[in-house]
Amino acid sequence: MTTRSADVAVVGAGIVGLAHALAAARRGHRVVLFERDERAVGASIRNFGLLWPIGQPEPTYTRAMRSREIWVDMLKRGGAWYVESGSLHLAHHPDEQAVLEEYLASAPHAVDNGTRMLTPAEVCDRSDTVIPDGLRAALWSPTEINVDPRQAIPTVAKVLAEDFGVEIVFGAAVREIDLPAVRTTAGDWRVERVIVASGNEFQQLYPDVFDASGIRRCKLQMMRTERQPEWWALGPTLCAGLTLPHYRSFAHCATLPAVRARFEEELPDHLAAGVHVLVSQTVAGEVTLGDSHDYGLTHDPFQHDRIDDLVLEYFNRFAVLPRPGITERWHGVYPSLPKGATELVIEPEPGVTVVNGLGGAGMTLSFGLAEEVLETW
Ligand SMILES: Cc1cc2nc3c(=O)[nH]c(=O)nc-3n(C[C@H](O)[C@H](O)[C@H](O)COP(=O)(O)OP(=O)(O)OC[C@H]3O[C@@H](n4cnc5c(N)ncnc54)[C@H](O)[C@@H]3O)c2cc1C
Repeated sequence: MTTRSADVAVVGAGIVGLAHALAAARRGHRVVLFERDERAVGASIRNFGLLWPIGQPEPTYTRAMRSREIWVDMLKRGGAWYVESGSLHLAHHPDEQAVLEEYLASAPHAVDNGTRMLTPAEVCDRSDTVIPDGLRAALWSPTEINVDPRQAIPTVAKVLAEDFGVEIVFGAAVREIDLPAVRTTAGDWRVERVIVASGNEFQQLYPDVFDASGIRRCKLQMMRTERQPEWWALGPTLCAGLTLPHYRSFAHCATLPAVRARFEEELPDHLAAGVHVLVSQTVAGEVTLGDSHDYGLTHDPFQHDRIDDLVLEYFNRFAVLPRPGITERWHGVYPSLPKGATELVIEPEPGVTVVNGLGGAGMTLSFGLAEEVLETW
């Protein structure tokens, strides 16, 4: 078999690999991207499709906003569906409202982008899906985007190939990197640099690097409803109080421990399963609901009804759908770093950069991160 050549090889066609392939191609490199599967089926197509700057404190908020710009460009180029939906964090208890108000007072970057508190009446003007009973207030953020990951990820790959000349080789597992050689199950390549964006497969290439990082895996259970009626649209993507302890943007709030303490009393099963509830929409008008968080190195492969029931129970407290029937259940797994680290970017040997560990924010941050990584070359 002849050896082909490129300037940069990327391992993995999830969002991290796609984003780095784009950043490298934009800098004028000839890029080849290897994906071991026939199409990407990892975390990047199993998520909510939420581009969620509001969950990021500075400086990653700015990274998320840059990613958002790139996403819009890529989705427009590829003709993929997306909604600039914004988001609502619903508050049903004074302690939840206090966190949202404290956050707002300490997040000028979000305020500058239009984030503000809404009254229940204003929430109902924006969303037919929210149940008004018991609602005290909400944080409205206009910056969130809802994509359908099962459509958006293949679209980004297509745009990379068609508009940016990236050669994408599906069904090619990278077996060994020995620069300038990259050995794959579909033949050998000569390249100058490699980006390893292997997601959950971190025990194959450079396992020692990952081992030293303390990386683990997080398993999340997800559901999708039947198709909603033609006249229905979600509008702003939704979440409520249980989401507050999950995002780093609220972590500094002095009012947050009281919320957590109340949940420990009132919702111990939800907390134990790491349940909080996000709601997004798909291109076909279904609704994606989740999720739970289970951390470890090895997980059982099973879906647990008990966990899905907790998600649905909490969802039913704050929202109602015309057609609530669940038609799909799945789980996703993403690598997660200890101590709140937002990414692992490391050079295990000259010419090779490992990028991983974006946790629950890979869709939100990858495009911006990739530009920052390439700037260091
Ligand atoms: C259920 C769930 C919900 C989420 N919701 C959101 C959300 O709404 N918003 C958000 O911002 N983030 C969300 N996330 C997080 C986000 O999905 C991840 O951070 C992101 O998808 C990780 O991308 P990745 O490219 O690292 O991994 P992956 O998407 O898993 O891609 C890695 C790819 O590398 C390939 N690969 C591995 N090894 C090799 C090899 N040796 N050779 C060739 N190919 C290889 C794999 O086959 C795989 O396709 C969610 C995650 C999950 C699981």
